[in-house]
Amino acid sequence: MKEIKLDLKQIFEKEKQPFFRAEYEIDPADLGVPADIGEVKEPIKVDVYIVKNPQGEGYKVIYNIKGNIDLTCSRCLEVFSKDLSGEHTVIAQRGYNEREHLRESDLNTVSLEGDTLNLTELVREQIILDVPYKPLCHPECGGIKTEENKGTVAGPFAQLEKLLKGRK
Ligand SMILES: [Zn+2]
Repeated sequence: MKEIKLDLKQIFEKEKQPFFRAEYEIDPADLGVPADIGEVKEPIKVDVYIVKNPQGEGYKVIYNIKGNIDLTCSRCLEVFSKDLSGEHTVIAQRGYNEREHLRESDLNTVSLEGDTLNLTELVREQIILDVPYKPLCHPECGGIKTEENKGTVAGPFAQLEKLLKGRK
């Protein structure tokens, strides 16, 4: 697993760059989203912009994710694709105390590993946050298609349907 690690001290203190901007593509294998969350099939594009935090310590990291994840609908069990696109902002701080995560005002703060920002980990955690606990293919998903309303169900779901009906 290859992770994208940005040495912020090198960029901002040694090279004295006013900002950092780059685009990356993270391969599903490098991203490592757990299989029980969903399946990422195509590389995830990330556009990242970093400046020193104008309001205090650390760095302000703005990143834009583009990509999709395949999820299984919790109601009808069909696989559907969820768009992960979105812009996110976090403050990255050195030696950031894990316990501080409990404070709501600090929810958007991440810890640097020394002076290094692990972009792959940041994106992975954002994707996990974006996936609902019970994903739905559609807000009004009608559930598993039954013989009464959708003809005969074939394949593995037919078996499941019988099991579900047996419980009623
Ligand atoms: Zn559904």
